[in-house]
Amino acid sequence: MLNDINSVLLTEDQIQKRIAELGAEITRDFEGKDPLFVGVLKGCFMFMADLMRCVNIRCSVDFMAVSSYGNRSVTSGAVEINKDLSEDIENRHVIVVEDILDSGLTLNYLVNYLGVRNPASITLVTLLDKPARRRVPIKVDYAGFEIPDAFVVGYGLDYAERYRNLPFIGILKPEIYND
Ligand code: 5GP
Repeated sequence: MLNDINSVLLTEDQIQKRIAELGAEITRDFEGKDPLFVGVLKGCFMFMADLMRCVNIRCSVDFMAVSSYGNRSVTSGAVEINKDLSEDIENRHVIVVEDILDSGLTLNYLVNYLGVRNPASITLVTLLDKPARRRVPIKVDYAGFEIPDAFVVGYGLDYAERYRNLPFIGILKPEIYND
């Protein structure tokens, strides 16, 4: 598995340090607001688990599952909801937690999809932001790292469902997905 990685972009230490900062900011900004964190599966699972341990306020957690990529490394543009929320979000402060913001299509779709349920607010958190690839304008409120235009895996992020278990974020060798 490690042979498929070109280089390490973000180490475990760098990721954890930044998540602690994000958690502290969110804790400060949402004190007393009882927010609902909505993780976007599957890619968010490690980030969500680590972020929630750094958020020290009353809150709740839910998940949605969406797919936009299939087994390919380029976006199809279509977003499919595979699992919806189990909590009612009317009048709740919703904080959507994504692994990576690329074209922006997924988050843009989710903001509209959740917006019609009358939440008190929708806040966007992403661990990684690839601004070079944006196709729709979108404003994230908390972003962990801005990264270059490369296909990354690890720390929850996959290629064809593999590599999610890597504890760091690495750049996949292009020959792996160009075959
Ligand atoms: P967007 O809709 O912003 O184009 O893409 C969001 C989704 O695309 C992410 O949740 C993730 O599943 C996938 N994605 C975008 N860029 C990458 C990448 O570099 N690596 C991986 N593994 N997934 C990516």
